[in-house]
Amino acid sequence: MIYAGNAIQVQMHDHQLAKLTFDLKNQSVNKLNAATLVELKEAIEAINIAIIGVEGVKGLMLTSAKSSFIVGADITEFLQFFGRDEQDLINANMQVNETFCALEDLPIPTVSLINGLALGGGFEVCLSTDYRIMATDAKVGLPEVKLGIFPGWGGTVRLPRIIGLDNAIEWVCGAKEKKSTVALHEGAVDAVVAHDQLLEAGEHLLNQCIKGDLSYAAKRDPKLAKLALGPMEQLMAFETSKGFVAGKAGPHYPSPVTAIKTMQKHAGMTRDKALVIEAKGFAKMAQTSVAANLVGVFLADQYLKRTVKALAKKATKVEQAAVLGAGIMGGGIAYQSAFKGVPIVMKDIAEPAITLGLDEATGILEKRVERGQMKPAQMAQVLNKIRPTLNYADIKNVDLVVEAVVENPKVKGIVLAEIEAQVKPSTVITSNTSTISIDLLAKSLKDPTRFCGMHFFNPVHKMPLVEVIRGSQSSEETIATTVAYANAMGKKPIVVNDCPGFFVNRVLFPYFGGFGLLLEQGVNFSRVDKIMERFGWPMGPAYLLDVVGIDTAHHAQAVMAEGFPDRMAGQGEAGVDLMFKEQRLGQKNKLGFYAYEKDKKGRLQKQVDDSLVEKLASLCANPQEFTDEQIIDYLMIPLCLEVARCLEENIIATPAEADLALVYGIGFPPFLGGALKYMDAIGLQNFCDKADALAGVSPLYSVPKQMREMAADGETFYNKLQPAH
Ligand code: NAD
Repeated sequence: MIYAGNAIQVQMHDHQLAKLTFDLKNQSVNKLNAATLVELKEAIEAINIAIIGVEGVKGLMLTSAKSSFIVGADITEFLQFFGRDEQDLINANMQVNETFCALEDLPIPTVSLINGLALGGGFEVCLSTDYRIMATDAKVGLPEVKLGIFPGWGGTVRLPRIIGLDNAIEWVCGAKEKKSTVALHEGAVDAVVAHDQLLEAGEHLLNQCIKGDLSYAAKRDPKLAKLALGPMEQLMAFETSKGFVAGKAGPHYPSPVTAIKTMQKHAGMTRDKALVIEAKGFAKMAQTSVAANLVGVFLADQYLKRTVKALAKKATKVEQAAVLGAGIMGGGIAYQSAFKGVPIVMKDIAEPAITLGLDEATGILEKRVERGQMKPAQMAQVLNKIRPTLNYADIKNVDLVVEAVVENPKVKGIVLAEIEAQVKPSTVITSNTSTISIDLLAKSLKDPTRFCGMHFFNPVHKMPLVEVIRGSQSSEETIATTVAYANAMGKKPIVVNDCPGFFVNRVLFPYFGGFGLLLEQGVNFSRVDKIMERFGWPMGPAYLLDVVGIDTAHHAQAVMAEGFPDRMAGQGEAGVDLMFKEQRLGQKNKLGFYAYEKDKKGRLQKQVDDSLVEKLASLCANPQEFTDEQIIDYLMIPLCLEVARCLEENIIATPAEADLALVYGIGFPPFLGGALKYMDAIGLQNFCDKADALAGVSPLYSVPKQMREMAADGETFYNKLQPAH
């Protein structure tokens, strides 16, 4: 044994080759946490000694004893790390660089044998070896920009010198995992072999180097030198990509463009100088609130995965599901279940509806085939998993039913009782209602413990969130089975307690209320949309209402007003009321706040309709002037306060789940980290002061009790209410 640690072992593989194995103790995957990096430094020192010592090491293979190679740096260490001052961060990265350079500078040939995922720092280690051999089914990539940073352990320096500048920019800024075929084609790896041939291929390659048939220096030298590209070509590549990437990333996500600028700065430098430039650029990005918030969203997602896993222990596996109602939602749910491999019966009362539901699923699948994401035979397999029927008897053996018929409590009550009469006693029954109380619907069932809400978002195949709504009588097994089924469908299930609007609509409607209040004071809706889109929302409130459907919003608005009359009744409802009266229903009838027309590609394009501007003016006798910041406050404050209220009333369990539900359910800007992160960043006392300044405008701006106390105590939501994640 040349070196033995908790994460790394180095031993002789045969008489001249050594093998360094990553195998982090008590973990399912390898990560480059701080302790592993210390071991890597020690291991390389030990190898240097073994080269001149009795072992006489002549070549080195990097391998992993796990199913993945190295999944990356340890993201749970990031937030604390990013909190250091700039010079500290630069020094820390330079220390890791020293280790990676020591690996790169070993006086023997080196190869990484990539058996599974090698991402981020895990791939940057591989870039430090002379050669990379990859298993057919492994994946590599540099996903750092998704977390608001960029590769900081030599990735931006080595990759362009290995695969060329254009490709490297695409790898770094696109942040995608690359398959072995692509990695080989672009030169990021030197060979691709079957899993069980990795070692043999590694030995063969190193032996060729040792014999002198292959020159590892020829592979190593370009990585140590300036980027081999003429100044004109460089200028073209950097300037074009900066424009393109800036356009794609948008103003709130600076790290991809900063990565390009960093590559541009160090293109004319040799390795060691270039690494300093990279470390400086990295430190700047690591200190942004964007990076902290994106890492926060990632950690919240990990936390959610753990809660889902814990619940799964009580779940019954859904082998066969059913959806009642083959409408927009029913068709989408059937597609998603079948696509993820869970067969589903789709029942409706009308033949044409069944055809529509199947058309919905077929349409989504055809697009996948067109884009080359699926073969026609696979499409047929998915469609075969959807069994359309008009006959109730066909649902009798299923493990879980999703009711997705029209949003009418009487119809739903009848349908739920009919379902219960058909299915097994153990079948879980759920409703996709968006507004009706789960406890109210539970009254239609003989056994309300087997019932809960399962609220999907439209379009089902695109929207990640599923709210699983716990009624007062839902059993833990019912919740667990529903969560596990949503998870099996590839969705993000978040458990919430029953109340009007559940969690997402309950906090979204006060935001629409704030928008309505602005309309009533003469503010132009398209100006509000532009401001909120610039703020970071994927679409402004008027456009979002058109997408949701004005009839749906009108109905939900009434439900919310009835549920929370003290603060939601009559608060900014007039705009949606007027639109509904005029039957401007939004995208569904191509006329809402905007007028819609299909473009050549069949996509709906919106246009401002001046006649509506005049009609909305009738809501306001005395138009007021608003600054952009006031407009943002009018909308954001009611949403955020309602999120705080939901936490206080235990509608949702933790800040992490609340913020994730907003990011996954309504596209809350991820760079802000969610509503609670947003308030924590502003400071709770400052936020209360802002809300208090609008208290006279509407009860939508009234601060909930616990939040006011937390503000007075100088607390934050994440410090006080989030269990460690
Ligand atoms: P939809 O009108 O498109 O579809 C409803 C379907 O139910 C129709 O095909 C109808 O024929 C069928 N149906 C009616 N009575 C039935 C019965 N007794 N048995 C079987 N099928 C019956 O409606 P949708 O937009 O798909 O909404 C369905 C449910 O999903 C509603 O509760 C709605 O609130 C909820 N939801 C909708 C959205 C959305 O954006 N559309 C989002 C989330 C939740």
